[in-house]
Amino acid sequence: MTISDRSVGPDQIIGILGGGQLGRMLALAGARLGLPFDVVRRITEADYSDEEALARFAGDVDVVTYEFENVPARAADFLASRLPVRPGPMALTVSQDRVREKTFARECGLAVPDFAPIDSVDDLARALETIGRPAVLKTRRFGYDGKGQVVIRAGDDPARAMAAIGHQPAILEAFVSFEKEISVLVVRGVDGEIRHYDPVENVHRGGILRTSTVPASIDVSLGARAALTGTVLAEKLDYVGVLAVELFVTRDGQLLLNEMAPRVHNSGHWTEAACHCSQFENHMRAVAGLPLGSTSRHSDAVMQNLIGNGVDKWRRLAAEDDSVLHLYGKRDQREGRKMGHVTRLSPLSRD
Ligand code: AMP
Repeated sequence: MTISDRSVGPDQIIGILGGGQLGRMLALAGARLGLPFDVVRRITEADYSDEEALARFAGDVDVVTYEFENVPARAADFLASRLPVRPGPMALTVSQDRVREKTFARECGLAVPDFAPIDSVDDLARALETIGRPAVLKTRRFGYDGKGQVVIRAGDDPARAMAAIGHQPAILEAFVSFEKEISVLVVRGVDGEIRHYDPVENVHRGGILRTSTVPASIDVSLGARAALTGTVLAEKLDYVGVLAVELFVTRDGQLLLNEMAPRVHNSGHWTEAACHCSQFENHMRAVAGLPLGSTSRHSDAVMQNLIGNGVDKWRRLAAEDDSVLHLYGKRDQREGRKMGHVTRLSPLSRD
């Protein structure tokens, strides 16, 4: 049987790279669809020299997807030369590097905060002259939950800022004094069909997502523009699966792209409780080449992350009416670690 014969349909085996909570939720959704799958728990640059293990994996599954964007490019290319990788390696390359990501978004006609690539303290000093302060210095790669970034304010020493991010290749971004942060999730099938979930309003603290609320308190036209942003990116990337796009809403109604994630996303966890078909199921459907499911909502929802010892109240949450509790089964509780989430539902509001 050829790859293309086996690359769509409910009987193919889906390989999921990454065994964190997102991989777990993908596997759960895949199981509901009757899809067989194989989860690879860890792939690191170091492990990746183990081409034999990857070749074995490629031989055991029909299509590959992933729960995190830091799959080493070589691993993605190696797998993509053997079987379909969905979303494809281009989505990974673009989203792994903040400079490429923002450049790509601009090329797609989307607005982004002013930015400059930074490789040295001199670059940083020069960029601060044009971008101004405050500004945010972020590592180009491997940043998540606010890690690897520092705000540079008036009087701050650029050399110290570079030291704070470990002198890694970086990006300097204008600090956006946004009114709110929203995100939109789109899903695109192998046949190019695109659907989107309603945009959500996100609150971060210490760089970590705390709550996602839907509907977002934005007007309809802004919501439509946000959805269009996701659609444009998914089309330009010839994307398959769920794509998450995080946006800043400025006081004057501008939408600026902060980042995108080529995967299911924390700000879409509410979909498992409030939608006919969750982001996880839709991702698995797309990856398996099945018809996409409805992205419509039957309830309003507020998703709250249970972080660190925030999970200790799980017993009370489990007893709440109209709440859907999801625990990740992590044994070690650490400050800042996502241990679970709860989605509180309320009747659909109508405007
Ligand atoms: P990131 O990892 O880039 O998504 O950043 C994590 C959080 O830091 C974002 O959700 C924002 O709350 C904040 N942040 C990131 N970039 C900027 C920026 N250019 N201006 C203001 N806040 C930012």
